[in-house]
Amino acid sequence: MPAVSAPSVLPPAEALEPQDPNSLFAMAVASVNRACRTLQAPEFIAAILSQPKNELIVNFPVRMDDGHYKILKGYRIQHNNILGPYKGGVRFHPDLSLDDVKALSLWMTMKCALMRLPFGGAKGGVKVDPRALSADELMRMTRRFTAALGSNIGPDYDIPAPDVGTNAQVMDWMMDTYLNTHGEHSRQGLAHVVTGKSVQCGGSEGREKATGQGICYVLLELLPEFGLQAAGLRFSVLGFGNVGSNTARLLQAEGGVLCAAMDATGAVGAADGSGGMDAAQLAAHVARTGGVKNFSGAGVESLSVEQFYELNVDVFIPAALERMVDGAVAQRLSCRVVAEGGNGPLTPEAAELLLRRRIAVLPAILCNAGGVTVSYLEWVQNKTGVHWELERVDRELKKTITLAARRVRLAAHQYEVDLQTAAYCVAIEHITACYQNRGIFP
Ligand code: NAD
Repeated sequence: MPAVSAPSVLPPAEALEPQDPNSLFAMAVASVNRACRTLQAPEFIAAILSQPKNELIVNFPVRMDDGHYKILKGYRIQHNNILGPYKGGVRFHPDLSLDDVKALSLWMTMKCALMRLPFGGAKGGVKVDPRALSADELMRMTRRFTAALGSNIGPDYDIPAPDVGTNAQVMDWMMDTYLNTHGEHSRQGLAHVVTGKSVQCGGSEGREKATGQGICYVLLELLPEFGLQAAGLRFSVLGFGNVGSNTARLLQAEGGVLCAAMDATGAVGAADGSGGMDAAQLAAHVARTGGVKNFSGAGVESLSVEQFYELNVDVFIPAALERMVDGAVAQRLSCRVVAEGGNGPLTPEAAELLLRRRIAVLPAILCNAGGVTVSYLEWVQNKTGVHWELERVDRELKKTITLAARRVRLAAHQYEVDLQTAAYCVAIEHITACYQNRGIFP
């Protein structure tokens, strides 16, 4: 098979890194470049991955309940599709920026490649606070955003899914809007235009807990590397939304002990470090009140931010938003392992500090890939008109993510690099092989 020759006119990978220290995308590109250097990948790989293929910004009006109109800004970034249709979540958040969405889309490319899913990477969203909208406003906003995206999404082209601020209900509205605006005759065949739908609308069993389930499977596979096991594992969780709460519940079912949790409302835990909290009861409290604050239980008290971070645990799981763990926080942590539940939770300074402190970091593109893996299973079920039972979905997820974890462990030994660089290496090796086999058109 003839290999594609690397054009010699390209600048070195470092020169392609955006220089803004506040840029999340720059952080993501730097990780790609580090792995490309480790692999000695052809220069064109770093060059291609250093920019998304398509960047779409839409400004669209939404009618509010009081009759006024608001103009909202939406994004869809399609980073790469060499491995298959673009795939990635939709985020509704007031602080969303183009730079964030670009970073998140790149991480989707890496995640799908690492999992060996036949998908590329994308991400999108709307700069809006969904909690400030009524249910009707949220529905009109979702439908109008989907209509604005038009044919820039599609079941074999770009397939959205839930992320922060969106859920199965939002996916159901997106699917319904797409079906009502595309192709009279083939409507029912297009349900796989989004994943993460409700089970009644074609969603997969196990999708809602999938990201937490994936983190759990990764930990079960890799904990022995650090002399740890699930039974009796002491852990704390930052962010108690979909990812944080499901991870806590499932780890607890494996014998783990939830020692502390913190979200946007506060922190709770066993300050003396002795006991744990019931993850299901805490999740019910969050569903009722909107946050972990004021949760009470035997031995549970509210913690200061410092107490939360300094609590001695085996595993700390950041599952909130990006870059919440900076150098100062990394200095406070008292754990053996950080399992990145959310995307990009560490600043580069924090990552470096943890490396120096010999605290292992299980990378996000591995840990939280359970969501996109079950999204892929949903897509396959929709395409073939079948509905699998939960046991089958869990089995497929476990197999896929455990194999990926083993690949990462192997690459870390082979290239003598940290687990994050190893994960990017495994992803980029796959992408490189695909580019080399296909060649670059024309
Ligand atoms: P979510 O909205 O359900 O939960 C977010 C949590 O973060 C909430 O508990 C919130 O209170 C907390 N949070 C927000 N700001 C905070 C602050 N300043 N301090 C402390 N906590 C704060 O979101 P999610 O779906 O659980 O996603 C969490 C992360 O996981 C994101 O990075 C997301 O991109 C990533 N992720 C999610 C999925 C998925 O399937 N939902 C899949 C892969 C990755």
